[in-house]
Amino acid sequence: MGKPGVLFHAAFRGGDVEVRVDIVLVSAKAELDLFEVKAGTTVKPRHLQDIAMQIRAIETSSFQVKSASILHLDPRYVHDGSANYPVHKLFRSVDVTRRARRLLPRVAEQIETFASVLADESTLELPTGTWCKNPLPCPFLPRCTKQGPAHPLVELPQLNQQLERRFHEDAVESITQLDPQDEGLSQQQRRVVRAIALKGLVVEPFVPEELQDVDWPLCFVHIGWHLEPLPRLPKTKPWLKLPFAWSVHRIGQTGYVASQSFVSAVADDPRRPVLESLVKELTDAGTVVVYGNGHDERLRALLDLDPELKPKLRSLLQAPLLEIGSLIQHGVYHPDFDGRFEMPTVHAVLAEALSHLERPPIAELIDASDLEIHDDDEASRAYAKIIAKRTRTTTREKLGAEIDKWAKRSSAVLYDLWRLLK
Ligand code: SF4
Repeated sequence: MGKPGVLFHAAFRGGDVEVRVDIVLVSAKAELDLFEVKAGTTVKPRHLQDIAMQIRAIETSSFQVKSASILHLDPRYVHDGSANYPVHKLFRSVDVTRRARRLLPRVAEQIETFASVLADESTLELPTGTWCKNPLPCPFLPRCTKQGPAHPLVELPQLNQQLERRFHEDAVESITQLDPQDEGLSQQQRRVVRAIALKGLVVEPFVPEELQDVDWPLCFVHIGWHLEPLPRLPKTKPWLKLPFAWSVHRIGQTGYVASQSFVSAVADDPRRPVLESLVKELTDAGTVVVYGNGHDERLRALLDLDPELKPKLRSLLQAPLLEIGSLIQHGVYHPDFDGRFEMPTVHAVLAEALSHLERPPIAELIDASDLEIHDDDEASRAYAKIIAKRTRTTTREKLGAEIDKWAKRSSAVLYDLWRLLK
């Protein structure tokens, strides 16, 4: 490296680490300007850590870093729907040189810690813990959990590092070793400890009360969302969640049940057809029941993008909302949840545990093994195939039908959860 130029994915080794930098501008004086490209819309602390690590490696290997910047997607960028993405508008460049340099002393300590962890053979015997989920979920978690004790601490909701350290100091590796009266535990954690000790279902009294405190008709709603980090459609911004399908089970006070669904199985903008049909379906809804937070926020994010849809969306957002997912997290636990609260897991466990409860069949509640699509992620991937340019019409139709089956089953599952717990 003696001449000025641009390097992509240049590797440097120094100070016991090897780093790769997305883009390096080399000046005539052999000073370097570093650029890391991130798909997110903000600078995160872990990005600064990475850059600090790069600066340390590069400067120990006798080059000089003049500046370090992060190029991330600009959240204010509004796409025009064309195939062109003006880079200077799509990305924002943030100079993080000073912030990253401030982390250099900590980076040296971290490298020492990493080296000692790698050199220590007992590291492989460490139990699972908070580090398996933060900052990102480790793909080996199911395998590591199987190798460890039953109900490892990592299954405990709201587990933080401080609590985890205390448990480790007391040689506690499993929730089965915990005392539900332990003052350091939250209400939710105590319920988990209690359910595991009882080897059975624990339901707090407020859960059925809240499930019965509803307005009629009850509408159980499941919406399919597709995340587009790079905006594709006109008037959309990076990382927009687009609704592409919905299903509603409507239950009247007299017991009638009706279901409706809609899937956008074409490459066109799904927002208007999906939202218009959903708003129409929910016009006279009493309580709208959903699973998982974020529906409101996602619908709100669509408010300003289409002025014509705004009043209709507003009316949808004003309907009384019952979010069953957080009610379950805060009032229900069964040991077979294994620390997970996704709707398919929770429903499968509760349907088994409460199989003695008589309830009429729901036509759309087909066996999960009869589905091609089993969860929100798989549905989103199927929709990504639908909007791909080269996908044939017949494939689109087939994928649309599978998404429809999945959406219908999802709102039926939601209805069944309500029946089981009320
Ligand atoms: S799940 Fe990942 S982070 Fe956790 S112990 Fe296993 S390998 Fe390590």
